[in-house]
Amino acid sequence: MPGTSSDPIITLIGAGLAGALLAILLSKRGYQVELFERRPDPRKQAGHAGRSINLALSTRGLHGLQHAGLADTVRQRSIKMPGRIIHTLDGETRFQPYGVNPSEVLYAISRAELQHLLLDALAHTPNVHLNFDTKCVEMHLAQQTLTLSHELTGEITTLIRPHVIGTDGSSSAVRSAMLRTPRFDYAQTYLEHGYKELTLPPAPDGTFQLDPHALHIWPRGTYMLIALPNLDCSFTCTLFMPFSGSVSFEALSTSDAITMFFEQQFPDVVPLIPDLVKDFTANPTGSLVTIKCSPWHYRDHLLLLGDAAHAIVPFFGQGMNCAFEDCTELDACIEAETPDWERVFAAFFSRRKPNTDAIADMAIDHYIEMRDHVADPHFLLQKQIEQELAKRFPKQYIPQYSLVTFQRIPYAQAREQARIHERILQQLSAHINHPDQVDWQQAEHLIQRELPLSREGA
Ligand code: FAD
Repeated sequence: MPGTSSDPIITLIGAGLAGALLAILLSKRGYQVELFERRPDPRKQAGHAGRSINLALSTRGLHGLQHAGLADTVRQRSIKMPGRIIHTLDGETRFQPYGVNPSEVLYAISRAELQHLLLDALAHTPNVHLNFDTKCVEMHLAQQTLTLSHELTGEITTLIRPHVIGTDGSSSAVRSAMLRTPRFDYAQTYLEHGYKELTLPPAPDGTFQLDPHALHIWPRGTYMLIALPNLDCSFTCTLFMPFSGSVSFEALSTSDAITMFFEQQFPDVVPLIPDLVKDFTANPTGSLVTIKCSPWHYRDHLLLLGDAAHAIVPFFGQGMNCAFEDCTELDACIEAETPDWERVFAAFFSRRKPNTDAIADMAIDHYIEMRDHVADPHFLLQKQIEQELAKRFPKQYIPQYSLVTFQRIPYAQAREQARIHERILQQLSAHINHPDQVDWQQAEHLIQRELPLSREGA
């Protein structure tokens, strides 16, 4: 149902990725929207030099951008990655396509560029009032008040607002207000791994130093390096490794230790990053957290969305994609349930929560897989069998990665399918040690029984 001029204003706290997209969708429905963002307008920051951080955008995120009419523009400002290139310790490289058809690609996009595109689109969107340098410091849910700190003047104001949506990310101040309500469940779990971003610059002639049409991975057991391309011909590398222990960020505390570690573990990368030690020392080490909470709403007054409701670890590259999917799902709930905002918020929560829990769990499973199983011969055998199953039964056996990344089936269904895959692989790989030994009749029987064609595109 479209908003009318008598509808109350919708207030968003946080004009990050989800907040900006959601504001556009709400405005398209005719609502008055105001956003409060604690940071300055990033488009006005002179010479925005520094590190370029990028994200892998996939089908769910693009679908959200499509709703705002931005998918084509974003695609044009990103780089297609049809597969990953694995770099082994001895310098060999192996390309693995992500999908089975050419449309199944990831898009590497600079976070800053995407943010600018969304904010520019917001600036041309009617009925949106965007306030930068304005931080939400307090909310009183029963009184429906919102206290804001104006970062440039130090002024504090308190407003009464009927409908507030917290899109203020994983350290959400809005969620803090929910923490004071009765029976609010909250759990945050940190990984023992952290991450550090490093820039792999263009070659002296301004060209890419690695193949730009791939996500590069240097898997090394308990740690790994990845690299995504940028339009300026640089790559953003991210090193994931434990915070402490014999091979850890803590252990890399001197220039010599950093140099020796990279020379031993990533020898092909060392000549490509001239400022390696400087970058490594100067750049912060980030932590990785999963946040689950429940419920996400307080009556018809408050809702959490995006990372504020469900931060996940980045090993499936889904945090932003999931947050954008939240925006289209909330839009669908508004279509179905307004003008009753309590029903809108409740419907959104019950529709999304099982799915965001599922992607949070799949992201952790993926992390455990990369950490503990990639060198396990039985696991590798199962992966080989899986590839063959996907080839022989393409309509029935769609690998979990594709279901999550290139389809829009609910994440909980993707996890359910993955559990079935696991059972099939366990049965097919028991008592064998080579894919040639698979009993393909048994495989066909299992597929027909467990993954009947009616599930196709489910
Ligand atoms: P955010 O983008 O964090 O935006 C929150 C906004 O709220 C910010 O602008 C902030 O300034 C503002 N804010 C915060 N507090 C207040 C306050 N009190 N008052 C006012 N404003 C406030 N996802 C992918 O899909 N693909 C990837 O490849 C990917 N890679 C990642 C790699 C790493 C290392 C990490 C850590 C995450 C990655 N993600 C990825 C996840 C992705 O970054 C997040 O899921 C996404 O940014 C969530 O969007 P959001 O709008 O909910 O939160």
